[in-house]
Amino acid sequence: MLEDIEKVRCISCNWTSNAITRYTFCPKCGKPFIFIYNLEKLKERVSRRELKKRAFNMWRYLELLPISSQGEIISLGEGGTFLHKANKLAKGLGIKNLFIKDETTNPTGSYLDRGSSVLTSMLVEMGYSSIIGAVGGNLGASLSAYMAKAGIKGRFFMPLNVDLGKLYQVLAYGPELHMVKDLEEGRRRALSVRIDEYLIDDRDPYIAEGKKTIFWEIVEQLQWETPDWIIAPMASGGLVSMIYQAYLEMKDLGFLEDPPRIVGVQPLGSPSIVNVITGIKEYGKESIIYDLSVIKPVFLEKAIEAIKKTNGRAVAVEDEEMYEYTRKLARNEGIFAEPAAASTLAALDRLLNEGVVSRGDIVVCLITGSGLKDPRTIKWEEGRKLKKKWEVGHLERTKKLILQIVAEGERYGYEIWRELKNRGIEISLPAVYQHLSELLSLGLLRKIGVVEVRRRKRTLYGLTNKGMALAFN
Ligand SMILES: [Zn+2]
Repeated sequence: MLEDIEKVRCISCNWTSNAITRYTFCPKCGKPFIFIYNLEKLKERVSRRELKKRAFNMWRYLELLPISSQGEIISLGEGGTFLHKANKLAKGLGIKNLFIKDETTNPTGSYLDRGSSVLTSMLVEMGYSSIIGAVGGNLGASLSAYMAKAGIKGRFFMPLNVDLGKLYQVLAYGPELHMVKDLEEGRRRALSVRIDEYLIDDRDPYIAEGKKTIFWEIVEQLQWETPDWIIAPMASGGLVSMIYQAYLEMKDLGFLEDPPRIVGVQPLGSPSIVNVITGIKEYGKESIIYDLSVIKPVFLEKAIEAIKKTNGRAVAVEDEEMYEYTRKLARNEGIFAEPAAASTLAALDRLLNEGVVSRGDIVVCLITGSGLKDPRTIKWEEGRKLKKKWEVGHLERTKKLILQIVAEGERYGYEIWRELKNRGIEISLPAVYQHLSELLSLGLLRKIGVVEVRRRKRTLYGLTNKGMALAFN
């Protein structure tokens, strides 16, 4: 609880403070900070016997959360989620003990509700009546719900590419919503924060603290056994950081000894943390899993510590692998996840193939959010046609650039390849033809005719009206 916190400490520089400040990040370097509790003192109050008396939800660990003992808890019924023994998926993967921590059943369908509940309770305690900030889809939906419950005004900036389901949720809860080009622009606009207003961003220490309770619950649900592996998606790196922080606290409280090996997963199209850890500069095609495509992960240092100190792994997976496991998870275990969440199973598949995870290991995959939030889950084989329609509205960068190049004049494949290279996009010639064929089937390009260049026949491409409309929008 607030009164058990000894200090706050920056995850990156050596800044610490004894006071519970009104800062929400390190004033020295701008990185997140974490709360350090007096665990010696807490040993007396937090025991297995004491926990046994409490209801199974995240608030059974309230001593380890930054909550005032006098304050009111703003709850919508978050946490206390089911730990599935996923036997069918396990069999398919050739592993004995696979568990799924199903966070899709939280009030707004994502694990972030845990942090929102902590933050909202604190805002009420500190007397804030308004909150402002740039938020991604899941956080926006979650905060909007909790602010509605607490009667706190929300003023949020959300990127235009937000998943549709998440946008619907936010609209339903009714905060003041501004759509912006990207989170960067949202952050700039949120600097209009008023003196009586709380500024939220992805460094928020209260949101982070709520994430710890996932690990506590898992360990209890496994009868106080630490799993060999725990696999979580990484966006800003906050989740793996706080799983590790929860482990450190549980260890100091005497609840367990060895850590689980922590695995963080990112899309191959945006492997900002994975690349730092593996030292490999690998990129796949641009990811459309926006919530995980974070270019500057604020919890980077702590996420690296979590993975390295536990002898864990950082894994990047293709978007298609996430879709594949979204489908498998739904059809084998009855859990409908968003693709970002199913990334943990795709990562497990890779680690089993590489022989890193052994067949007899106990593995927990976190499923952080519900499939209802992301209409792209229809990218299953029966949804291919719908997928194409969707892609017209969300053209990836390379395709858009091709349209822009062709808009300047009709071109053949090799010329387009050369022009892309001039503009900093180095892809193979076959990849260019793949893009061209997809743009043709989307009805954005058309074949104008054939020209002969150095005795070879080349197909000339031009824009359709639809292509012209999309090239610069
Ligand atoms: Zn710092």
